[in-house]
Amino acid sequence: MAVISYKCPNCDGELVFSPATQNFKCEYCMSTFSREELEAMKQDLAAEEPEAAGGQTGEQAKEQQSEYDGVQEEAVAYTCPSCGARIVTDGTTAATFCYYCHNPVVLSGRLSGEYLPDKVIPFAIDKKEATQKFLDYVHSKKFIPRAFFRKQQIEKLSGVYFPYWVYACTMDGTMDAQGTNIRVWRSGETEYTETKYYQVEREGTVELHDLTKNALKEANQKLAEGVLPYDLTKMEEFHMGYLSGFQAQRRDVDQEDLAQDVSQEVKEYGRQLLRDTISGYSGVTVNSHNLKMLKESWSYVLLPVWTLTYKARNGKFYYYSMNGQTGKVYGELPVDYKKVGIVGGIVALIVLILFLIGGLLI
Ligand SMILES: [Zn+2]
Ligand SMILES: [Zn+2]
Repeated sequence: MAVISYKCPNCDGELVFSPATQNFKCEYCMSTFSREELEAMKQDLAAEEPEAAGGQTGEQAKEQQSEYDGVQEEAVAYTCPSCGARIVTDGTTAATFCYYCHNPVVLSGRLSGEYLPDKVIPFAIDKKEATQKFLDYVHSKKFIPRAFFRKQQIEKLSGVYFPYWVYACTMDGTMDAQGTNIRVWRSGETEYTETKYYQVEREGTVELHDLTKNALKEANQKLAEGVLPYDLTKMEEFHMGYLSGFQAQRRDVDQEDLAQDVSQEVKEYGRQLLRDTISGYSGVTVNSHNLKMLKESWSYVLLPVWTLTYKARNGKFYYYSMNGQTGKVYGELPVDYKKVGIVGGIVALIVLILFLIGGLLI
């Protein structure tokens, strides 16, 4: 399988995607390159090494497919193009770092064929900013154990492209309902009630888009969906170079796995949208409704997340995650009960002192 590492033409250092400039930067000589320049370089390389340029042979593709069909959890080894060390990954890793030379590597074969993402949102927040936001966040919270944000732990903050499915559809919707309005009035000793019945019909086209679903089975569902939403208007055509310097996971959830739930979900949205157009009655009973699917589309996208996991002394995992585009934070943080205990103790003490003072005054 092809392993890509983007090399700087000036010094042979590693090129990584820089969120701050949205360009590609050499970490050694600080040269920067645009995406177009990076692509041109890859073509030069391809001309030199026709084998690498040929892309995948049928056999390679088959091999990859059988790897996917087989045990997905199985660790798979690759050779680092920079130092020759073996890089061991799990079945869904698509970009990572070499454990020995720490150079970024992109396992391009993992993202080919049906696993080639349609779009990507490149990171807009770099590690420095992500670290600062993390510190601001934990300092704004109380009772977080110190170990959660000590330096060693913060260094583990990783930028990961997570796989998602983005869904859109157009439906034809109809709704039949009965609306009622009731008027009550008195005349002398008699109370009158007038009930008016209305036949209400609705018909319209319902369009839904940007429904985003986590496409990685092993991902913590809450983590993967807690960082939503993304500004999907900023999506770019997928390019491997964006992954350089980050980690990336490829999807292991197929659209068929989600189709049924998504279809139910959008039909419920559609029903609600139609229902919301009926107003002006004191009571509404929906007799029937129908939503006919006219058009649907699925895009496979990689979205940027900064994540940090923390294993507490009791063995429980906690995590912090941040949307790598907007900075929205989501996490389940550990609570240091010792710290809670101390504050609790202080409150109790103050109450006790107040009681004593109260006692003295009486
Ligand atoms: Zn360089
Ligand atoms: Zn290496």
